[in-house]
Order: sequence, then C-alpha cells, then structure tokens
Amino acid sequence: MNAAINVDNLTDVNTSHPMLMAMGVDKTYTNGTHALQCLNLNIEHGEIVSLIGPSGCGKSTLLKMFADLEQPSAGQIRWNGKRDMQSQCNMGMVFQEPTLMPWATIADNVRLPLDLKNIPKNVSTEKVNQALASVGLKGFEKSYPRELSGGMQMRSSLARALVMEPNLLLMDEPFGALDEFTRQKLDSDIRTLWAEKNLTIVFVTHSIYEAVFLSTRVIVMAARPSRIIADIPVEAPEFRDEKFRTSESFIKQCAHLSSLLEASHTGGSHE
Ligand code: ADP
Repeated sequence: MNAAINVDNLTDVNTSHPMLMAMGVDKTYTNGTHALQCLNLNIEHGEIVSLIGPSGCGKSTLLKMFADLEQPSAGQIRWNGKRDMQSQCNMGMVFQEPTLMPWATIADNVRLPLDLKNIPKNVSTEKVNQALASVGLKGFEKSYPRELSGGMQMRSSLARALVMEPNLLLMDEPFGALDEFTRQKLDSDIRTLWAEKNLTIVFVTHSIYEAVFLSTRVIVMAARPSRIIADIPVEAPEFRDEKFRTSESFIKQCAHLSSLLEASHTGGSHE
C-alpha cells in the first residue's frame, strides 16, 4: 500500500520545524506488547535517516507512527511542528513486499494512488510515465508484475510511492529480500532520487552497510521496549559510489555500528 496526498494541498507548512518529531513516544499494543518506551527523535528536512536495531525492537512501529498509521499510547508525533500530518506532509510509503496488484499492468499499479484521488487519466498518464522513468522502468508500462524481477517489482512499488510527488518517503526494509548486487544498485538510485526530488527519507534496514551507504544519520534502537541507544551522523562524501563502499572510513563506520548493534541486543548504553 502507498499513502500519499498531493503537495498542492499543503497549507500552513512551516519548514523551520523538523520534518518529524517523536516526543516522549510510548507504544503498548492492545495485546500488552510494550514496543517503544519514551522515545525522542527529531528528523530534519532533507535528511536520510536509517533505523536499525534487533528484530522486533519497534522500528516498523515507529515508521507507522510517522505515517500516521499507528497512534502512540503516550507522547506525540509532530509533522513540521504540527499534530496533523495531512496538512503538513505529502507522504509516500514503501514496504518490504512490493504489494503490486498481479492482475494489473505496471502502469495501472503505479496509477493507483492517482485513481484513488480521481485524477483524470490524461493528467495521471504523464505522472505515471515520469515516475516509471525516474526509477528506470521506462518501457515496462504494459508489463505485468509476474514478468518483472524482484528488483524491478520493487522499483514499481517505489514509482507508485513517487507518483504523488511526496516530500517525505518512509521505507520499511524495502530491499531486504533482494540479492546484494540489486540492493546496492537500488541504494545508489535512492540517493540520486533523494537529491533530485528534495526528499526526506526514513529507512528501516537490518543492514549496517546499507545504513551507512544511504544515510546522513543512523539511529540505533535497543531491544524491546525500545529506546534510542545511539544517534550517529554518517561521515561521507556528498556523492557516494563504489569508492566510498570500499573506503577505510566506510569500513570503520560499519564496524562501529556493528558493535553498537551488538550492544542493542542487550539493551545497550547511550552514545
Ligand atoms: P521491528 O520493525 O523492529 O522488527 P515491530 O515494530 O514490527 O519491530 O514490532 C515491535 C514489537 O511489537 C514486536 O514484538 C511485534 O511483535 C509487536 N507488534 C507489532 N505490531 C503489532 C500489533 N499490531 N499488535 C501487537 N503487537 C505488535
């Protein structure tokens, strides 16, 4: 599923506030699972922030709150300093599964959010073509999902999130099921899209390599009930390529994160 609203609908947006704020957020599900404990996090406009931590520590829960799909049990989420996401953010979301409709063409899958907004076909076709071109899928408009590789299906899902021209992209381990080479290519493409489209991105991943390659900042979360045990700015050149992936700095930052991740399994300590 992708959720997005049109940027033209945004009113009263004050970008002097962080794009996202989690303020003392606590989450206990109705079955008693205490997922998040008094979590505080600001994400500024234009950042790519990765969330890493042990499985089940609450990364997706936090992402869903940023998407306004889950509500905190205590504390608040704010978008541009306000409590109403719809008036402040044009949000797109990408999940681990591409979640494409198997009976529909790639173009019709990407068009779905526009159809749900009753955007006329003569306008939506142009937007769909642009979104597909931006993820390298020009020429695949009439293909069906089963005819595409896993990486291309994920690109289609990304195009569906981009078709409403979001300023906030929330990605929940989108490339976890892909082979390493495809994942690296998509990571590079995400950075290009981020720069071209002025996006703010929150990205959940299990991969420290992916987190360091992609992000401006990496947040390490501890085992449930989760809190933040480290908030690490990534040191990297503005343009990141294979040279960065094999650099001493990259390897050092991955090793540092790896030790923090190890600590996160046992609760960890603040950095
Ligand atoms: P992560 O993304 O870090 O793997 P999640 O946010 O998916 O973790 O889940 C955090 C904890 O909350 C887990 O123990 C999970 O089983 C539980 N959880 C997630 N969603 C629900 C739900 N809708 N109802 C009950 N428990 C849930």
